[in-house]
Amino acid sequence: MGIIETTAKSLLSKHKRIDGWFVCRYGMNLYRGCTHDCAYCDGRAEGYYVKGAFGQDVEVKINAPDLLQRELNPTRRRKPLKPGYVMIGGGVGDAYQPANETYQLARRVLAVLETYGFPVHILTKSCQVQRDLDIIARINDKQRAIVSMSLSSVDDAVARVFEPECSLPRDRLDTLSKFKRAGISTGVFLMPVIPFVSDTSEAIEASVRAALEAGVDFVIFGGMTLKTGRQRDHFTRVLDNFRPGLASAYARLYTENRWGTPNQNYHTAIYRTFARIADELGIAHRMPPRLYADIVDDTDRVVVMLDHLAYFHQLAGQPSPYGRAASAIAKHPHPISLIRSDLRATYGIGQEVEKIIQEILSTGSCCRLNTFFPKDQRAQ
Ligand code: SF4
Repeated sequence: MGIIETTAKSLLSKHKRIDGWFVCRYGMNLYRGCTHDCAYCDGRAEGYYVKGAFGQDVEVKINAPDLLQRELNPTRRRKPLKPGYVMIGGGVGDAYQPANETYQLARRVLAVLETYGFPVHILTKSCQVQRDLDIIARINDKQRAIVSMSLSSVDDAVARVFEPECSLPRDRLDTLSKFKRAGISTGVFLMPVIPFVSDTSEAIEASVRAALEAGVDFVIFGGMTLKTGRQRDHFTRVLDNFRPGLASAYARLYTENRWGTPNQNYHTAIYRTFARIADELGIAHRMPPRLYADIVDDTDRVVVMLDHLAYFHQLAGQPSPYGRAASAIAKHPHPISLIRSDLRATYGIGQEVEKIIQEILSTGSCCRLNTFFPKDQRAQ
């Protein structure tokens, strides 16, 4: 492993709008580059400008805890930070990759987040996170913490090829069980499922069942992106070794586009397969309202709930006005509570969406959204 120590200028990255997948406003990358070396990692794509050889070299932001201390300190900020989970774990480097055993940056930034009272959502593929269970439990007691693992399948043989240096999937799920027993909410991000490898109905069901057995609060699903260049070239080499002859099928699935997304028919089909399985097994497939409704502000609560309604309607093939309404609200410069009496004119929304927004503002909950979640995962 090659280590490149760097002194970063800033740490927290702010999303333009609240992120509906993780329900966070802020995130951080403690490391750039990742020796977990997943074959599909899009951190390998040229657009992320990760230094060194991806999978072997890691840039370590050695001043991350000091930066965070400065960025969270309210006396040094012109504007207070928005409430919501702070995300640890990013697309260009797992916070609990092997370098963290030496640098302990994850634990040290958790200590800062604990001091300033921020809720935390951690996403990793490493059982190393359990060493920080004590501090994560304290954050959970004071604010809230969620620990999530991402999986591409629960098949160890697949994981050994496509995620060669990560903890094995069953070990990741065992780790989540430990957090759950400690009273900490947990989730699985079943992503990316790998086309023609872990995207069959049987493979998806095996993963969802295993997550359910580990007691997770939600499973969120996603397909694989494949950007032309380093990411696609590396993945193709690994795939060819594992299962030769898939090149033409992949060429049909991934025609070149900026985001590297697969074609829409495939995308819709795998999402629907997942949703059917998740619904049959009774597991939430968006972040459950009870995990965020009381910790974000009014505007962000409305945006997330509308985003999630849009997701569920899209899955059912029903066009809906919710996504557009969420975008209009997120872009508006004023908090929603200030324009409550004039929602329709301000956001260009109809009567039905207005009614839902008024309900969310009055009760913190949304009856229609609740119907998509198991009873114990709804907002109180
Ligand atoms: S653990 Fe995440 S960041 Fe690291 S290589 Fe795998 S996908 Fe990339």
